[in-house]
Amino acid sequence: MRVGLDVGGTKTEAVALDGAGTVIARVRRPTALGPDGVIASIHAAVDEVSARTGGRATSVGIGMPGQIVPGSGIISHAVNLGVRSLDVAAVVGTALGVPVDVENDVKAAALGAAVLRSAVVPATTATATATVTPGLAYLNLGTGVAAGLVTGGALWRGSRGAAGEIGHLSVDPAGPRCRCGQRGCIEALAGGRAVAERWGRPAVLPVADVFDCADGTDLDGPVRARARELREDVVRGVAAAVRVLVLTADVDVVVLGGGLTALGDRLVAPVRAALRRSGETSPFLRSLHLDERIELLPAGSPAAALGAALLGAERGEEVLTVG
Ligand SMILES: [Zn+2]
Repeated sequence: MRVGLDVGGTKTEAVALDGAGTVIARVRRPTALGPDGVIASIHAAVDEVSARTGGRATSVGIGMPGQIVPGSGIISHAVNLGVRSLDVAAVVGTALGVPVDVENDVKAAALGAAVLRSAVVPATTATATATVTPGLAYLNLGTGVAAGLVTGGALWRGSRGAAGEIGHLSVDPAGPRCRCGQRGCIEALAGGRAVAERWGRPAVLPVADVFDCADGTDLDGPVRARARELREDVVRGVAAAVRVLVLTADVDVVVLGGGLTALGDRLVAPVRAALRRSGETSPFLRSLHLDERIELLPAGSPAAALGAALLGAERGEEVLTVG
């Protein structure tokens, strides 16, 4: 039984997969912060998902927000978890006595999205084998913006694990200042935190508030105009991300996930329109059908936990069949 975890800043989600790759249990628990809290949360989630199934984990994969030291199970700069640096794989692996893989949560979600989209996880013997779509990008639109790429059935991490960090690609030299020091980064235009800071109006869901105010008629002109400006930035930021992912990796599909995608078609329709507009003056861009390559991750999908569960297979310890 493979176990996959998505350890987020507020909750930890765990799934258990049987030998055929089918999700047989799924649990959600709050995440305790700091190195000790995170490790305790991981163990509690593994225990709970094991108790649900009556099985025992044969491998554990963990997706976490932060940087993974390439080729290791060490997470660093996991600010949202209160972890500066922690060898998660060593600590958890020693305690459980099973192989433990650790990956950045967006990259894990990319792998999970590829498996979910293939909708085919063929049964094999004791080996969890997944058929994955070649050429998929997962674009996470949350507090920040980042992408994960799956090509040839495996994650494309790049030489230092930075592949897909397109949030800090500057697309407008005159755009708003980004926390990374540049101007006009995709994340400065479309990241939830950046939008909230620029909007400055207290709201539980600031990006949704921006969209509501942009559509609303009960606000004075300048506030509505500002909301429309910010909404336009979100749309052009997401469109730029889709463009760069397709032009760099020619992925079949860009799956959108993360908190902003709760906006559904209110976000996707204008992004598609922006991509179509960029094709109006360019037969080349038009020929790529960028607008047709976008899909939304189904709401509530445990993509990161599912992808995390398959990390061992994806890393080549077992054969992963590519569809
Ligand atoms: Zn930046």
